[in-house]
Amino acid sequence: MAHQTRKRFGQHFLTDQGIIRSIVNRIDPKAQDRVIEIGPGTGAMTYPLLDHLPQLEVVEIDRDLIAFWEAKKINKLTIHAMDVLQFNFREWAQAAKSSVIDEGNKGGVKVVGNLPYNISSPLLFHLISAIEYVDEQVFMLQKEVVERMVAAPGESEYSRLSVMLQTVYHLENCFEVPPESFEPPPRVDSAIVAMWPKKNVKIPTETFNVLEKLVALAFSQRRKMLANNLGHLKHLLELDADTLKSRAQNIPVETYLEWATKLANIPKEDRII
Ligand code: SAM
Repeated sequence: MAHQTRKRFGQHFLTDQGIIRSIVNRIDPKAQDRVIEIGPGTGAMTYPLLDHLPQLEVVEIDRDLIAFWEAKKINKLTIHAMDVLQFNFREWAQAAKSSVIDEGNKGGVKVVGNLPYNISSPLLFHLISAIEYVDEQVFMLQKEVVERMVAAPGESEYSRLSVMLQTVYHLENCFEVPPESFEPPPRVDSAIVAMWPKKNVKIPTETFNVLEKLVALAFSQRRKMLANNLGHLKHLLELDADTLKSRAQNIPVETYLEWATKLANIPKEDRII
């Protein structure tokens, strides 16, 4: 029986074979890789991935789709039947990384998927917990979200998401995918993004927490100057007059990280952030 698509799970299934081939080529699955796919749906990407891999794991929330996969009894497929936002990627990736290393370090740990667009931001933040052990992520997302993820300072799409993700990942906007490539077609354009953790950047948890709050404040009113948006933090950061007159959109990622590091080194009770 054909699967009844569920809007609440962001179900738009890929049908364009050319696009599917391009995404799988971009993922470049190798026998030595450890790969997990978020949201296999009815398998548009799952089957071609299985063609290249001796084992594949998937995370799926929809109980009909879980039953669909379980009934297939594919030995090399492991199904995690749960909400991906509850899935422990850190634990999974750590185990995957050690098995790759045991086998001579030739493979990579990869997280891939045509993501449910309604949870894309929380999911991207959730995945940061596994960053130490992941080598690459390749995702389909709403085009506007990908544009925000990769935007450079000064561009109109440069935002909180750009700063937070670019602090810890290198990103590439790979290619666009039109609505006609899906069934049912989404109302938005889509794009493929590739993400590689910055291996030389180790940010203490407290600094990252401060960065999240600092960036949220800086971008709280995009058109206003930092002098307005940063409140008491501008004094703690000892910002000069020119910087105070600039807007959040013009501050590079590295500068936000420098500021967060400075604030995180001030005792908590004195910085109130
Ligand atoms: N990979 C398939 C394709 O490309 O045709 C399906 C992609 S569809 C956009 C998103 C998939 O994610 C669906 O299978 C949906 O059921 C699943 N999904 C949605 N929300 C989820 C969640 N919170 N946890 C796990 N899977 C979820």
